[in-house]
Order: sequence, then C-alpha cells, then structure tokens
Amino acid sequence: MISFQQVEKHYGEFHVLKGINLSIKQGEVVVVVGPSGSGKSTLLRCINRLETITSGGLVVGESQVSDKKTDINKLRRDIGMVFQHFNLYPHKKVIDNITLAPMKVLGLTKKEAEETAMYYLEKVGIQDKARSYPSQLSGGQQQRVAIARGLAMKPKIMLFDEPTSALDPEMVGEVLDVMKALAHEGMTMVVVTHEMGFAREVADRVVFMDKGQIIEEAPPEEFFVNPREERARLFLNRVL
Ligand code: ADP
Ligand code: MG
Repeated sequence: MISFQQVEKHYGEFHVLKGINLSIKQGEVVVVVGPSGSGKSTLLRCINRLETITSGGLVVGESQVSDKKTDINKLRRDIGMVFQHFNLYPHKKVIDNITLAPMKVLGLTKKEAEETAMYYLEKVGIQDKARSYPSQLSGGQQQRVAIARGLAMKPKIMLFDEPTSALDPEMVGEVLDVMKALAHEGMTMVVVTHEMGFAREVADRVVFMDKGQIIEEAPPEEFFVNPREERARLFLNRVL
C-alpha cells in the first residue's frame, strides 16, 4: 500500500529524512515513535505529498508519489489525515465540516453527504453534536469529528499525527478507542503517537525513528520487551 525506497528529504541544508525504507501492507497498523524532531511528521506528510521528497522512491497504491503524472488530488482523496490540532473550520457546524469535501470532491448531493456524515458521527459516538459548532465541543469530541471527517471521504489509508497530544488526559482514551475500532475494521493506518499503550496494543509494527533514520522496526511485543538498538532502549527508558 505504501512503500518508501531510499527516501531522502532535505529542508534547505537540513537533512531531515535519511535513507528511509519502509513498506506498509493493506490493513496494517504501523505506529511511528521517536524523539521530537526526528522526522516523524515529515515522514507522514510525504505520503500525501504535503512535503515532497528530495530523492528515492515513494509508492502509494499504484502511484509513484513524486511522479509528475500522478494525480495528486486523487492520491489525497484516498488518504485521510488527522492532525494534533483538529483543524476543523470554526465557523462551520460539525456536520458541515464533514459534508464539505464529499460534496465538493466526490460530488455527493447534500442529502447523501449528510447521511454519510451522520453515519460516521454515530460511529465516533457524537451524532448528537452534528448541529454544534466546534468551539462548543471538548477537545476529544473535536478530534472525533476530525476523524469522522476523514472517514467520510472513504479513504484507503488514514494518517494520524499525534492525534491525542493536544488533549486533556481524560479525553485521550475516547479518541484512542475510535482509532482502535478503526484498526480492527482493517483500515491501513500510520500513526505517530507518544501513547505507548496504544502502540503496544494496536500496532502490527512499531517503527522507531531518530535523527531522520529508521533505527528499529519490530512488532510491539518485541520492540517494547526487548529492543535491539541502544537508542531505542534509551528512548523507551525515558517514555515508559
Ligand atoms: P517530528 O515530527 O519527529 O518532531 P518533524 O518531521 O516535524 O519531526 O521535523 C524534523 C526536523 O525538521 C525538525 O528539526 C524540524 O525543525 C525540521 N523541520 C520540519 N519542518 C520544517 C520546514 N518546513 N522547514 C525547515 N525545517 C523543518
Ligand atoms: Mg511531529
């Protein structure tokens, strides 16, 4: 589904991704962990070309992401992304936040889009908030709206960049539960998170990054119990 081959990425002089090789199969849940500044967000953002790679290959589905012939809008339709700061439209009601892209991009009628929106709002457990504005919701509820908005586009891949980092601790669980359910339904997911409990329980594979490189890649039962690399060990000692 996603394949990085010797991917390099520079921000000007700064070498942010170094020789990234990573393959993610359909239905796999990969959790990316590592210190701040190690390139996790950049790695994620390359997948839907929010960032362009400097060299190497990156294939998503059938398309080479950096190929000029690749229809970037189509690629992005298939990839949902959830950010740390929800990024909802503050002046639009919850339901209108969700119906916007399906109407505009997929060409759904308002009625179809609203039915879809309600289906996903129910799925994330907040159908009663459909007519509220984002500011009237808690952080956890806003993040669940953001997930519903992503799902309403029926993506093949969902990317999560620290989706619970901006939440009060008591709201983290409700968002992780939604993500867990999604994982169990077979969604292909790449998740950057500091929630090691989630990684341990839900990930098929944990990818540990440091200074722009993938240092270790292992199933969670291996990574958390017996990390091979010293840097991974030091990181786990700090965060667990
Ligand atoms: P992480 O998500 O692991 O914290 P990032 O991918 O956000 O790491 O960033 C990795 C490094 O790249 C950081 O040192 C950051 O300052 C730098 N960086 C990120 N985005 C840019 C940018 N647009 N321009 C220049 N440097 C950037
Ligand atoms: Mg980041």
